[in-house]
Amino acid sequence: MSVQETAQRAVGRARAAFQSGKTLDVAFRKKQLLALDRFLRDESETLLAALHADLHKCRFEGDGGEVSLPRSEIAVHLDNIDSWVTPKAAGNKGIAFALDTCVRDPQPRGVALIIGAWNFPIQLVLVPLIGAISAGCCVIVKPSEVSSRSAAALQALERYLDSECFHVVNGGVDITTALLQQRFDHVFYTGGSTVGKIVMRAAAEHLTSVTLELGGKSPCVIDNNCDLNVVAKRILFGKFVNAGQTCIAPDYVLCEKSVQPSLVDALRKAIEDSYTRDPKQSPDYGRIINRRHFDRVRKLIDPAKVKVGGQMDENELYIAPTVMTDVQPDDLAMEEEIFGPVLPILTVRDKAEAIEIINSREKPLVIYAFSSNKSFIDELKRKTSSGTFMVNDTIVFYLVPNLPFGGVGGSGMGTYHGYATFETFSHMRTVMKRSLGMEFVNKLRYPPYTERNFAILKRVLMKEPKEGGHRGPFLTITFLLAAFAILVKVLGFF
Ligand code: NAD
Repeated sequence: MSVQETAQRAVGRARAAFQSGKTLDVAFRKKQLLALDRFLRDESETLLAALHADLHKCRFEGDGGEVSLPRSEIAVHLDNIDSWVTPKAAGNKGIAFALDTCVRDPQPRGVALIIGAWNFPIQLVLVPLIGAISAGCCVIVKPSEVSSRSAAALQALERYLDSECFHVVNGGVDITTALLQQRFDHVFYTGGSTVGKIVMRAAAEHLTSVTLELGGKSPCVIDNNCDLNVVAKRILFGKFVNAGQTCIAPDYVLCEKSVQPSLVDALRKAIEDSYTRDPKQSPDYGRIINRRHFDRVRKLIDPAKVKVGGQMDENELYIAPTVMTDVQPDDLAMEEEIFGPVLPILTVRDKAEAIEIINSREKPLVIYAFSSNKSFIDELKRKTSSGTFMVNDTIVFYLVPNLPFGGVGGSGMGTYHGYATFETFSHMRTVMKRSLGMEFVNKLRYPPYTERNFAILKRVLMKEPKEGGHRGPFLTITFLLAAFAILVKVLGFF
């Protein structure tokens, strides 16, 4: 079968399954979520072995980040799905519509394509899949071919989930391209921005909505007043987990020159404490995914600026946790996202210069700020933009179940995790229901138009902008009128 036929067949089957309406049943969705959980439990050893083979990912990181995390996400969805699928009333409807039903009613977008990246190859497809299932979509899952063992292990998903609604399609760029030519109702892509643009162009052909979870250079700004031993530990965890191949890893550090020497000492100590003096022997330290990325990261290291690490072994695709100092904004390491275990430190005059450097680049996925000074934090937050802003730690915001995660501008569009994933795969349909009664009121709007009717309607329907707003008295009047209208309806006067 050609890649085109494979893509068409999978999408055709998913489309037919969606049109059958079976995913509209919330009990069916719950059953699929539980089946996905069974997959994670039954296949966990295979998945962990695949992660180790692909990335030398240790059990702690593999189980925590790629098996237990999606399982926890499933639990959140199972606990909340009944409330999430329930239509939600619109806010204040105004006096004129007090008797009407005005709600946002979630309906599944339809057939979705989920394209994953290789660095967290399991969870980056499963966490969106969980929300797509909760929302009632049918899904084609396309794991990254770069993490080939994990992709192969994910194929077993098809044995657990409904075989018409959910399909895992493995292969290279040719199959992703063929899939992108099909009509989907939503495309959820995780990966680099170059391919992100290809995905968005392909989706535009069908006017399909997209979520783009991209990367970028996430800065880490350190104030002068911090306990650098704690800061170093927290940066180490965010930067060197998965050997730096994490989209939300701090990409580079900005601090004043006076902070740099002590920070380097603290980072050296933190690295030795966690991975010993020879991280290559540490079972907890990962490897670079492949030769292409090894060569890419190697080129970013300037030996003259290395203060910690710098050792490499190309046969093992090993690069030691590396810290470089006095890096300049136009150095190679600052050109693109590092996506490897290399931490450049740039020194700045003050926080204004740090803000200037951040704002001269694409909007990052995350900005990390370390400080106990509220005004430092507030100014940095106010004058910059990023998908997430995290204070005094790194990456753990990702674990908060209902905190939406996603980028802005160059780091992506759309959010997911918890309710946000459900929302991403749902169309929040507006539904308004009126009765056929009350014509004595409705006739005011029918032609022939009169100035008197217009004046009444304008008064009832429209608001005039006022400095300070209307909220207090307006809400009270609306409440009283709504209560009156409900009474009228209940007593059946009209
Ligand atoms: P990758 O090479 O695995 O590519 C991602 C997907 O794109 C794959 O499934 C692949 O099949 C597809 N693809 C590749 N080339 C294509 C082409 N020419 N046409 C169509 N599809 C194609 O991953 P990557 O791009 O190396 O991923 C790393 C990037 O992903 C980094 O920038 C990282 O920051 C980002 N990332 C972001 C997140 C997030 O949640 N925001 C998470 C992980 C990674």
